[in-house]
Amino acid sequence: MPASRTLGLVFALAAACGVASAPGASATGASATAAPAPGDPVTAHDCAERASLKITVQGATLCVSVDDPAHSIAQQLLNDWVERSARIVAAYYGGFPAPVVQVRIQVAAGGGVRGGRTTNDSGLVIHIIVGHDVSAGELANDWVLVHEMVHLALPELGRRHNWLAEGLATYVEGVARAQFGNREVTDVWAEYRQSMPKGLSQSGEGGMDDTSSWARTYWGGALFCLQADVAIRERTGNRVGLQAALRAILRQTGGYRAERNIDDVLQIGDAATGTQVLRDHYRETKSTALAPDLELLWRRLGVPQNPASQPFDDHAPLAAVRIAITSKP
Ligand SMILES: [Zn+2]
Repeated sequence: MPASRTLGLVFALAAACGVASAPGASATGASATAAPAPGDPVTAHDCAERASLKITVQGATLCVSVDDPAHSIAQQLLNDWVERSARIVAAYYGGFPAPVVQVRIQVAAGGGVRGGRTTNDSGLVIHIIVGHDVSAGELANDWVLVHEMVHLALPELGRRHNWLAEGLATYVEGVARAQFGNREVTDVWAEYRQSMPKGLSQSGEGGMDDTSSWARTYWGGALFCLQADVAIRERTGNRVGLQAALRAILRQTGGYRAERNIDDVLQIGDAATGTQVLRDHYRETKSTALAPDLELLWRRLGVPQNPASQPFDDHAPLAAVRIAITSKP
């Protein structure tokens, strides 16, 4: 096992609105114990006993500790947020992607959810920073913790393939939240349509395995996932998509706890869909910069220029594929 593994994410979340929860109430299935000291490595074994709050989701244990000396955020709000995020990810994968994970919440100045990272140094840990002025609505509409939890479902593939880890987390976050009813389908496609072009290669850039820029790592990786999802659905008559591949990868590898070769992981995904889409797409893009026609892709899927204000085209050739992507399997 490697000495240190981290998948990081630090960028601001757009503000959202919502409804406040009752502060201070005790959560079902939650128990209070002593919090670990900040920076103190906690193993999976003792995590459950030392976390300030224990949340159980479909048999998985999330050990939540909060570094908030001023008690500026009601514990119930944080508990609801962690549990909802875990349920979104568990629903997408057919189970939460790790038996035990520690969630370390650090409260900082300002508002919103400020960033997160997922590590596997001594047990799985999600570190997440929350502004002390965060609202219930911001937590209800948060994508950062869902993104971090999605990281738990893919094995460690090595730094060279970080684009796949980040791309998957970026892509799956929107789909999983839409399937769960936590995010509007129109909002997901509006973001894809607006942000996927950021993932296209700039002149002089090589393939995905040579990617070092933020935009191409996150959105180039997400575009890889969208193209693979569409291609799998085209080849299987829209029977299954990328979700089936990702579930199989989690089931057969154990997710982020394991270290695997990217070719083996993609093969597992392909076997689950009865295609070669993932391996073929990786072979085509790993060392060569491609320039896919995104306008054509949106047209085939029936995604308008601005899905927030324009209707989807349900007569587009791949409209059924688009609808299936954000529908529960
Ligand atoms: Zn990430």
